[in-house]
Amino acid sequence: APRVPGGTAARSAALAERAERVIPGGVNSPVRAYGSVGGTPRFLVAGRGAYVTDADGVEYVDLVASWGPALLGHAHPAVVDAVQAAAARGLGFGASVPEEAELAEEIVSRLTLPVPGAPASVPLVERVRLVSTGTEATMTAIRLARGATGRPLLIKFAGHYHGHSDGLLAEAGSGLATLAMPGSAGVTAETAAQTLVLPYNDLPALEAAFAEHGDRIAAVIAEAAAANMGVLPPAPGFTRAMIALAHRHGALVILDEVLTGFRAGPAGYWGIAAAEMAAADVAAEGGPAAGAPAEGGLVDAAVLPDLVTFGKVVGGGLPLAALGGRREVMELLAPLGPVYQAGTLSGNPLAVTAGLTTLRHADAEAYARLGRAAAAIAEGAGSALAAAGVPHRVQRAGTLFSVLFGDFPEAPTTYAQVQRQEVGRHRAFFHEMLARGVNLPPSAFEAWFATAAHDDAAIERVLAVLPHAARAAARV
Ligand code: PMP
Repeated sequence: APRVPGGTAARSAALAERAERVIPGGVNSPVRAYGSVGGTPRFLVAGRGAYVTDADGVEYVDLVASWGPALLGHAHPAVVDAVQAAAARGLGFGASVPEEAELAEEIVSRLTLPVPGAPASVPLVERVRLVSTGTEATMTAIRLARGATGRPLLIKFAGHYHGHSDGLLAEAGSGLATLAMPGSAGVTAETAAQTLVLPYNDLPALEAAFAEHGDRIAAVIAEAAAANMGVLPPAPGFTRAMIALAHRHGALVILDEVLTGFRAGPAGYWGIAAAEMAAADVAAEGGPAAGAPAEGGLVDAAVLPDLVTFGKVVGGGLPLAALGGRREVMELLAPLGPVYQAGTLSGNPLAVTAGLTTLRHADAEAYARLGRAAAAIAEGAGSALAAAGVPHRVQRAGTLFSVLFGDFPEAPTTYAQVQRQEVGRHRAFFHEMLARGVNLPPSAFEAWFATAAHDDAAIERVLAVLPHAARAAARV
C-alpha cells in the first residue's frame, strides 16, 4: 500500500511527511515506520480501553496496547486519575519518593512463588532497582552479572530481543527481525565478541558453549518466553536445564520478563514455568530435582534465575522498568557495591504511580478478561486462516500469542525456523485488518497484545474482520 494523500489516512500521511523532515524515518522507534508492511503509519491521537483513534478520526480495536504496557486498556480511569494527582504534586524531584518502595514490594510479592527445588514459597527477587527502559534494565543486569562473576562473556539466544544496548543486538528479534537486520552498525567487533549467540532451545549448543568457554561466561540472558520473533515458549525442560547448566559453571541467569512480566500471567511467564516444573516433579515422583551446588556463593541451590528484568506493564504506560534479584547480587549495585548504575528519571513518581496503580488493578478478574480475549482472538485468527486455506501457526505463551504465516507442521523452536515466515501474507492480512478497523502490530514477528479491556464488543469486532483479512492473505 503506497503512501497516498487523501483517503482515510490523509492526516497521518501529512504528519508522517512532516515528521520525516525532522526525525529519521519519521519515527522514534523503527518498527513504527511500517517498514515491513508499507503504507501510511497511523498517527494515534487518543486511546480508551480496547480502542485507539488516529489523526484522521478513525477508530480501531487495538491489538498493540503500546507494545504491551496497556494491560488494563488505554487510559484506564484509575491509572489516569492517580497519574494526574501525582503530576499535581510535582513531576519529579531527583530524590526518593514513598511510592518507589511500594512498587518494589508489589514486584517482590508477585514473584514470591512455590518454586521447584525449594521447600516453600520464596521471593524470586529480594531487591529491586527501578530504571526507565527495558534496555537499561537488561544492560544493568548484564553489568551486574559481570561485576558479580568477574567474567566477560554473555550468552544470548538468536531471535531474543533485550533492548538496544551494544552487546545485545546480534541476531536480535523485534525491529531487527522485522527489518531482517542481523545486527547493528556502530557496535565494535570487540563488544560483539563478548556475546555468544546460540540457537534457542538447543541444549547441546549451550553445553558446548559452556564446555569451551565455561569459566569466562558471566551470564546467560533469555526471554522468559521468546516473544520478539513471534511467541516461542521454551521447549519443555529447557529453561530449567539452562539454569542448572549455567549454575554448574558459576554463571548467572538473567531472565528477561520485560515483555512477558505481569502479562503472560500475574507472575509473568516464570509463574507459569515454575508451576509446570513443579508439576513435572510431581509426575516424576522423584521429588523436586535439586539444583547444582552454589559456586562462589552466588547461585542458589534451587533452580532459579538470578536476575529478572521487567518493563512495559510494570510502568503502566510510562517510562519505567526494573531489575530484581537475590539480595547478595543486587547489593553489588552502587551505593552499596562496586557496580555503577544511576538515572536522573529513575523511579520518577508519575511512572511509579502508573505502574503501581496498573499492577494493583491487575487482579485475577483482569487476568481472566485478558485471557478470555487473547484466547478468543487467537482461536478466531486460527480458524479464519484455516478456512481461507492460509498456512499458518498460532503460537501461545500464557495470555501472549502471535500468528506465524507459513507452513509450520511442527512448533518452531528456533529463530532460523521462524525466519521462514511468509511475510507477504502477513502484509496483506495486516492491511485488510487495518482498513477494517483493527490495529495489529505492523510486523510478522511481534506478539499480538490484547488487554483486560477487550470486552465482547471489541472481540466481536475483531472476529468479524478476521475472515476478510484471512482471504486477503490467501490471495498472496
Ligand atoms: N527485553 C524484551 C524482552 C523486550 O521485549 C523489550 C522491548 N520490546 C526490551 C527488553 C527493551 O525494552 P525497551 O524498549 O523499554 O528498552
